[in-house]
Amino acid sequence: MSHLFRGVRLINGVADAPLAEVDVFVEGERICSVLPHGTGGPVPEGVKVIDGSGKTLLPGLIDCHVHYTFDPAVADFSANMARSDLDVAASATTQARRALGAGVTSARSAGAQRNIDIWLRDAINVGQTPGPRLQAAGLAIGITGGHGHMFGIEADGEVEFVRAVRRQVRDGADVIKIIASEAAMLTTTGLRPGAAVFGRAEMCEAEVHAVVEHAHRLERRVLAHAQGSAAVINAARGGADSVEHAFLADEAAIECLAEHSATLVPTLVVTDVNRSMPGLSPVQRERQGLIERLHRASCERAIALGVTMATGTDTGEPGVTADLLWREIVLLHDHGASAMDAVKAATSNAAALLGMVDSVGTIEPGKLADLVLVSGDPMLDLATLAHPELVMQGGRVYRPERVSDE
Ligand SMILES: [Zn+2]
Repeated sequence: MSHLFRGVRLINGVADAPLAEVDVFVEGERICSVLPHGTGGPVPEGVKVIDGSGKTLLPGLIDCHVHYTFDPAVADFSANMARSDLDVAASATTQARRALGAGVTSARSAGAQRNIDIWLRDAINVGQTPGPRLQAAGLAIGITGGHGHMFGIEADGEVEFVRAVRRQVRDGADVIKIIASEAAMLTTTGLRPGAAVFGRAEMCEAEVHAVVEHAHRLERRVLAHAQGSAAVINAARGGADSVEHAFLADEAAIECLAEHSATLVPTLVVTDVNRSMPGLSPVQRERQGLIERLHRASCERAIALGVTMATGTDTGEPGVTADLLWREIVLLHDHGASAMDAVKAATSNAAALLGMVDSVGTIEPGKLADLVLVSGDPMLDLATLAHPELVMQGGRVYRPERVSDE
């Protein structure tokens, strides 16, 4: 089936301003031409024409940090981990469908219990279940007793970390997730009485470096969970491709990120969701307030310093559902990114981080037809991205038709 988006406002993921009145022709799974409206000659027979007047077409959105195998409705972490494989698989497919319906056409899974995201990726790839094109990390790798050790691989010292990387590649991982620091989220350690929220470094720089060197040899990129300054510096100096969260990173740590050209995936949605979490005690509220202030300072500084930003929601954290990527884009803008830079963080920047620039992230002839159509102009109101009128993945329309039952 071929499609023509006629007379649409175009945000192509490259230009700094939208292009008015464009015709985008999709043939099969790919974008065939992008031309000024009315210059492409007569519309061939059998082409489905989609009227784009008053609407904006964007590249499909990319969520660089998801855990579809965690149930965001289950607040207790151990209960989440104790769920059966069948239960996890069933809810993960629901999350993946929900993400696709929200315009997320590609995603990077940042860790899953029992490698179930690798199964999910394969199920999506063979068309068993709709969902974003998924890069799966499978088991996260961290130190013995470190953050997330209950569902990841425990490793200590460079040799064990390298072995863990090779094991994950053997078992089908597309990317390597490392845990470079303890948590700093209210919903994990922060809720336990007396628990720290400082995001202290867990892996040392040499361990990060060993992981990155061997992952890159095996053509896998590395994403590092890092919250506090020392951990962010270890991750950046160790060569991690992206640093996730950096909630508590100070100025020197953000400068180190910029210096080493690491991409930052700040997952602002998590802090935003936690802000309105019901039933917080005064102590928890105070702790959350501290995280909010530090996280804002960290992200604003990164944007001001020109650190490359990419969007990630941390879907699967309590309350963080798979359809909130639009919110991350709004929050990036709120932290100082221009509206267009915020959209690029979810499209071309994210595609570059995932090593997918040849196929997705921009609207150009030859790219896969992963597209989102919204009413109005996102440059005037980014919240229009919350309700896409149409989502196309590889030339197939998934919203409203195929996932409208969500
Ligand atoms: Zn995460």
